[in-house]
Amino acid sequence: MAVLGLGRSGLATARALRAGGADVVAWDDGAPAREKAEGEGIELRDLSKAKAWEGVALLVTSPGIPHLYPKPHPAIAAARAAGVPVDNDIGLFFRSFATREWDSFDQRPKVVAVTGSNGKSTTSALIHHILAESGRPTQLAGNIGRGVLDIEPARDGEVVVLELSSYQTDLARALTPDVAVFTNLSPDHLDRHGGLGGYFAAKRRLFAEGGPDRAVIGIDEDEGRYLANQLSEGKGDDRVIEVSSGQKLEGAAWSVFARKGFLAEWRRGRQVASVDLRDVKGLPGAHNHQNACAAWAVARSLGLGPRAIEAAMRSYPGLPHRSQRIAERDGVAFVNDSKATNVDSAAKALQAFQKIRWICGGLEKEGGLGPLVPFLGTVVKGYVIGREAAGFARQLPGIETEICTTMARAVERAVEEAKPGETVLLAPAAASFDQYDNFEKRGEDFAAEVRRHLG
Ligand code: ADP
Repeated sequence: MAVLGLGRSGLATARALRAGGADVVAWDDGAPAREKAEGEGIELRDLSKAKAWEGVALLVTSPGIPHLYPKPHPAIAAARAAGVPVDNDIGLFFRSFATREWDSFDQRPKVVAVTGSNGKSTTSALIHHILAESGRPTQLAGNIGRGVLDIEPARDGEVVVLELSSYQTDLARALTPDVAVFTNLSPDHLDRHGGLGGYFAAKRRLFAEGGPDRAVIGIDEDEGRYLANQLSEGKGDDRVIEVSSGQKLEGAAWSVFARKGFLAEWRRGRQVASVDLRDVKGLPGAHNHQNACAAWAVARSLGLGPRAIEAAMRSYPGLPHRSQRIAERDGVAFVNDSKATNVDSAAKALQAFQKIRWICGGLEKEGGLGPLVPFLGTVVKGYVIGREAAGFARQLPGIETEICTTMARAVERAVEEAKPGETVLLAPAAASFDQYDNFEKRGEDFAAEVRRHLG
């Protein structure tokens, strides 16, 4: 077996294959990653050479490595030329799952897979939280942090929740979840998928023929509507649960939708449950209500009752750096949405709160800030950070801004000026790399500064 890419998932794959008794050779284009693997006794081999493939049965590659567009990595091209099949850790996981024998079919572990452009982590973590709170054994893995080959082998009665990015779904040779979720679609990662069509095709693989027993589909974009219609055709009433944030879906065979802060579940023309989400602190804003609806639909698919799901939603703590309420003092809330690294997700955050003291700025993404302008009505004032803070602020017409450059200064000024009922929100609409290693470090810095000022 060969492993390409020796980051978190590649290393976990190499270890798992070796533990299973396979001979493993591996490669990474970066010297530090190679040295780490060598330190663990993993044999290195430059896989871009044709002669590297003699006696190799399978190449397992990592999500960050292009395999189709703009062109395959040389090692993948060499494997294909030698007739060696290419898979990833997700494909291996599903294949080993499919060939395992279980004590009883009913008790067989189940896999829930979540994909989509935004809200994957939140939806996956929320499903996992609801199951755990209801006493169901469950594990969370995939794009969210733990590699699928890092988790314990699933046991009877367990539910494995997987967050899958398009980089993972586009290659896996087996994708057979019991329940699959498509949250929504917006343009992202187009450089890897050759445009929106390729990107949607990558996500859609999770719902291929013979796919999941149950599909939970966000239908607020045309692609989701198309997918829901296609999957339900000729498959009876219960295969698809339609999800929306904003639209009434009372006519659908089975639906869960949020409107004006209320979640409603409808089945065959009748409302079967409803929940007031407005005071659910861990899930603020319409975008999180969409995530709540998807998680609700999955939990219902797995047989949980409405009251248990509602109680678990109320205790959901939120994920770090995603609309995370980190403090409250004198009527001022402090929210860390450092994960809002692009204009789209920042726009969602600006719609989720009122009277915002907005900490923004950083390394700007392509396309400028124009799409944010319609959502600035909730902003009291912007405190702009980043090396190019002045250029960033110039693109925000109609709101007061102050050039702060550093997080320390931005938090200091926002704390000084905030009044009861307002929210100090970090939602940068930019990447962090001009000042931080990653968005997590930026969010931690924000939290540390808030703590410093609140004492
Ligand atoms: P993903 O794992 O798909 O990146 P996350 O749950 O980590 O999604 O959320 C990433 C960012 O996207 C958050 O900062 C939030 O502002 C925004 N977001 C979360 N859920 C949604 C949604 N359903 N629709 C649009 N934006 C969302």
